Amino acid sequence: AKDQGRNNFQMYDSGMNVHAVERLQMEKDLRKALEREEFLVYYQPQIDIKSNRMIGMEALVRWQHPERGMIAPGLFIPLAEETDLIVPLGEWVMRTACAQTKRWHDAGYPDIRVSINLSAHQFGQATLAAKVCEILEQTGIAPRYVDLEITESITMTNVERAISTMLELKNLGLHISIDDFGTGYSSLSYLKKFPIQTLKIDQSFVRDIPQDPDDAAIATAVIAMAHSLNLNVIAEGVETEEQLEFLRERNCDEFQGYLCSRPLPVQEFEKLLQQELQM
Ligand code: C2E
Ligand code: CA
Ligand code: CA
Ligand code: CA
Repeated sequence: AKDQGRNNFQMYDSGMNVHAVERLQMEKDLRKALEREEFLVYYQPQIDIKSNRMIGMEALVRWQHPERGMIAPGLFIPLAEETDLIVPLGEWVMRTACAQTKRWHDAGYPDIRVSINLSAHQFGQATLAAKVCEILEQTGIAPRYVDLEITESITMTNVERAISTMLELKNLGLHISIDDFGTGYSSLSYLKKFPIQTLKIDQSFVRDIPQDPDDAAIATAVIAMAHSLNLNVIAEGVETEEQLEFLRERNCDEFQGYLCSRPLPVQEFEKLLQQELQM
């Protein structure tokens, strides 16, 4: 965990080119932002490829900074992760997304499911299942409509422990997806043991299909493998009709990407939901 923290720090530091002082400032800001609830959850539709219907959405956090404006998660999640602030932030996202989804269920969209990203730190907390349980009760959402996305690398640090955590969550009735699939090194024998429902093909493999033969081969293989393990497969980062056509021909189940919509704030997302009812 120490090593990972250092990596994140370097990534953050070089990627943003900020000085230690500015980083400290940002950490302070992040703490304040949590107290003041300066965060927002955006939602990106997830579409069933066969029926072309929206079946759910991914919750993606944004920081509405009073001076710097809207900040994308890539710029503050690594720091939040490093400072443990990710735990209260992640809980806030989960509570907010579950409460919002419950409101949408009550408003006449009874079947939509919400996918929520879990960080390594959250996933490693012994109190995770209890926390999730509390949020389910407080918001009244049915657990089968909640999908937790964990990255492949999170599961690989301690596989046995990861499996038992996944089982705890599954026993609560939640769904689990493996995010960014293909970027880590899951062995197939582990994958078979994971109590999961879905693999998300990482967008780096989607970007250059159908032109890039390697990516095309990887995407094709991931879909086939997921299906042979009885898993659902969703492609992320789909931006073009050609990409979607490629995925459809290979029986990929769902997609997510700018081709359908960018992540949207609540009110704009509701317009999509309304269109969906009229279809
Ligand atoms: P991710 O979980 O892999 O989320 C997908 C990212 O791809 C999102 O970026 C989304 O806006 C972007 N995306 C969606 N469709 C397309 C597309 O067609 N083309 C391209 N180029 N990009 C697309 P975003 O919202 O900036 O989030 C970045 C990352 O931040 C997420 O990657 C996730 O790892 C992390 N993140 C976001 N919200 C949370 C959160 O609540 N908790 C935690 N732990 N991590 C979060
Ligand atoms: Ca995700
Ligand atoms: Ca992803
Ligand atoms: Ca990603």
